[in-house]
Amino acid sequence: MSDRTGKLYIVATPIGNLEDISRRALSVLGEVDLIAAEDTRHSKRLLSHYAITTPLRSYHEFNERRTAAELVEALCAGTDIALISDAGTPLINDPGYHLAAAAQERGIRVIPVPGPCAAIAALSAAGLPTHRFAFEGYAPEKQAARSARLQALAREPRTLIFYEAPHRIRDFLEDAVAAFGPRREAALARELTKRYESLRRGKLGELLAAVEAGDLPAQGEFVVVIHGAEPRQQEADEVESERVLTLLLEELPLKKAAKLAAGITGRKKNELYDLGLKLSGKRES
Ligand code: SAM
Repeated sequence: MSDRTGKLYIVATPIGNLEDISRRALSVLGEVDLIAAEDTRHSKRLLSHYAITTPLRSYHEFNERRTAAELVEALCAGTDIALISDAGTPLINDPGYHLAAAAQERGIRVIPVPGPCAAIAALSAAGLPTHRFAFEGYAPEKQAARSARLQALAREPRTLIFYEAPHRIRDFLEDAVAAFGPRREAALARELTKRYESLRRGKLGELLAAVEAGDLPAQGEFVVVIHGAEPRQQEADEVESERVLTLLLEELPLKKAAKLAAGITGRKKNELYDLGLKLSGKRES
């Protein structure tokens, strides 16, 4: 056992443009003993562009747990390791969580070397509120689950950020229009930092129409940024839920009324149940 514990660097790499890498990232990648990379063949291109010859080891979602344990042993034995992913910041919809968590548990220093992240790049240019935002990663692939996830976010006041694959962008936008309404402001960032980069701002309905018309090609990598629900909209939703629930309570027991009202308004059943309790209390007093 070495008397010196190694350090784990979490190093962000470009999301397209190879120039988007910090000097510090390059020196760390050149100086560590080992680079753990999601796809070693892919990362070799970046490293050879910068003449970095540090040994590489594969660390991807299918060997994550086992490799994390081995890398932590190497760190304990004094090996300095840098973790990179195929693009952007590791752990952000990329492998690395098990390694960072295991290293933290063993008291190993985990040092971020910040840099590109598609979500933050899109948000920084979208012109949508940035003071509070929620990163949602990929919405579920299956339509029913995706639609339910988006419906559950319909009243979220924070700006929402999603990643999406090109073959699902149209379906995603259709479900987003259904959940948030066609007039909700949004931005579609495509191929950021690359040759065909585009960032289209508009209402969700307009963005969907542009993709459907082929005016915005459904190719490349996408980030979708969606304006949060307006407080006034929330108030309007609340008034509407109360109206629907009051009507249903005239005819039905609370549990059934809350269930139906949830289906009609898209709000959570337990929230409507609680609202129903209050409303029934009001009526009795
Ligand atoms: N770790 C990465 C980061 O920091 O952004 C994200 C990795 S995730 C597996 C890949 C997804 O990120 C893509 O499907 C796309 O949604 C988004 N993405 C990555 N690069 C992008 C780019 N240049 N332009 C737009 N979106 C991008």
